Amino acid sequence: MIVQRVSDILERINRAALNSHRSPSEITLVAVSKQKPVSDIVTAYEIGIRHFGENRVEELEEKADQLRYLKDIQWHFIGRLQSRQSEGVAKHASCFHALDRMKIADRLSSHLVHLHKTLPVFIQVNVSGEESKAGFECSEWENNAQQTQNLAAAVIEIAKLPALEIRGLMTMAPWEAQESTLRLIFQRMYKLSQWLKDTMPHINCSELSMGMSHDFEVAIEEGSTCVRVGSSIFGTRNS
Ligand SMILES: *Cc1c(COP(=O)(O)O)cnc(C)c1O
Repeated sequence: MIVQRVSDILERINRAALNSHRSPSEITLVAVSKQKPVSDIVTAYEIGIRHFGENRVEELEEKADQLRYLKDIQWHFIGRLQSRQSEGVAKHASCFHALDRMKIADRLSSHLVHLHKTLPVFIQVNVSGEESKAGFECSEWENNAQQTQNLAAAVIEIAKLPALEIRGLMTMAPWEAQESTLRLIFQRMYKLSQWLKDTMPHINCSELSMGMSHDFEVAIEEGSTCVRVGSSIFGTRNS
C-alpha cells in the first residue's frame, strides 16, 4: 500500500510541477508520519523517501531514537511547539516548519548553539484569517501595513539569531475550502514571499512550505517548494 501510494504522490508532484512549468526537483516531499508506526517509516525510507514530518516532540524523540541507524533520515517538525519542548526539536529536527513566535525562535536558537547546530526554519503565517490557525497574522497583509511590519520585524530578528536559517514561509490552508479559494490563498502566500524578497533582498527567504494531502497539487502550481503529505501516503489517522 505505502509503496504504491508513494509512487502515486511522486507522480502527481511531477505532473503538478510540469503543469506550471517548474522542475519537480525544486519540490521536497515531506512524508508526514505522525501517529504512524516506525515500520511504516522504514517502508517509505526503503523506496527512497528521506524527509519525514512529525508534530509531537515526544513522538519525534522516540522515532528518531529508534531509527537513528538510518543516518540520512531527515525529521521535519511541523507542529505547534511549546517553548519548554524546544530542546527535543533542536536535537532531532533537520527543519522546523511552524515558527510562529519570537519566544520559540529564541529558545530554539540557544539550544542549538549549545549543540553546535543550525536549523532551517519556516515562519508560519496565517493568510486565511481562520482563527484556529497559528502563525503571524497576515490575513490582510496587502492592505494592512501593521501586519507586514510585524512579519518583517520578526524576519529581521530571526535572521539575527546565530543558529536559525530562515528558509521561507509556511501556511496551512483551510481544510474545507474549494479549489478556487485554496488557489487564492496560495497565490497570496507567493505574493507575500515575493514582497519579503523585494523588501529584504539580503535575506534569503523565498521557499514556501504549503500543500497537504488534499491540496498539494494546487499548492505546487502556485509556487510551493515543500509539500507535507500524510494521509495520502500512510492512510487515515485517528484524529
Ligand atoms: C498532519 C499535518 C499534515 C499532513 O496532513 P494530511 O492531510 O494527512 O496530508 C501537514 N502539515 C501539518 C502542519 C500537519 O499537522
